[in-house]
Amino acid sequence: MKLSELLKQNKLSLSFEVFPPKTDTAFESVKRATEQIAELHPSFVSVTYGAGGGTSKYTLDIAKNIKQEHGVPTLAHLTCVSSTKATVKERIEDIKNAGIENVMALRGDLTPELEKSGLADCDYHHAAELVYELAESGAGFCIGGACYPEIHPESANQKEDIKYLKEKVEAGCEFLTTQMFFDNNLLYNFLYKIREAGITVPVIPGVMPITNANQVERAVKLSGSFVPQRFKSLVDKFGANPAAMKQAGIAYATDQIIDLYANGITNVHVYSMNKPDVAAKIKENLSDMLGYEL
Ligand code: FAD
Repeated sequence: MKLSELLKQNKLSLSFEVFPPKTDTAFESVKRATEQIAELHPSFVSVTYGAGGGTSKYTLDIAKNIKQEHGVPTLAHLTCVSSTKATVKERIEDIKNAGIENVMALRGDLTPELEKSGLADCDYHHAAELVYELAESGAGFCIGGACYPEIHPESANQKEDIKYLKEKVEAGCEFLTTQMFFDNNLLYNFLYKIREAGITVPVIPGVMPITNANQVERAVKLSGSFVPQRFKSLVDKFGANPAAMKQAGIAYATDQIIDLYANGITNVHVYSMNKPDVAAKIKENLSDMLGYEL
């Protein structure tokens, strides 16, 4: 099912994100974890491409398995900045042949080499170029793009970031998924600004349940997200107690999701990564709300 159709459904839902294995030997255990997540019947599962140390060659295997064996719609991520035009063309064919209908088109993070040399010699400079190619491929993909409520770390300011976001949407994005954020007001503010700028496609907020203290630093370094004092206090209090920290992190994410639902968001994307227990707990916490027809 295309996510553009799914997102029109006027009922509360959750989607989950998983990442492919880092090594060939980890494939079976990662596959099992992603299957357990699919068994929770989320609205869709997204599978990252090379992010979080995952091996990009398995993105399609995992996405195909979730779709075919569990009947859950999947969203396959694809990055372009470290690839040639020929490689991307091959990947697009592979996605098409795997029967995946939804693709998240990303630039990808800059490697230290690319940061030094710049993008001048690369085949791709921005995600919009990949969006355009996917749209032109004739495969009829439903294409998504990333967006940043707290602006992309490389952007000079929000106005510029939103201007380029609009260009990306105009290249063919039918929906956007946000970077993680820990303060919902940042999301509401961002939504107001992009709507004012004329970006009308659905925006899926991404929420990351932080379940251990070490994850906070990593997540913040990766995303540049603002950490509210309310969240810092929780880490101060429970960080040294893994079970309590996990429970508190899940409760914080649940609270964020309830507030998003209460303020008109229908689908929330959970960066539960390959943790079926975390995904299951969040789903359980929302059990009487999920499926609620608006
Ligand atoms: P872009 O849309 O190209 O934006 C990158 C920067 O370039 C921004 O500052 C933007 O304002 C600027 N820009 C855009 N167009 C122009 C232009 N024409 N001229 C000048 N500047 C411009 N990474 C992975 O490796 N694998 C994944 O699976 C993955 N999944 C992700 C999913 C989500 C929801 C998010 C939010 C991020 C994900 N990432 C993933 C990380 C992503 O690759 C990085 O954040 C990357 O730095 C930017 O990717 P983008 O697609 O947003 O790039």
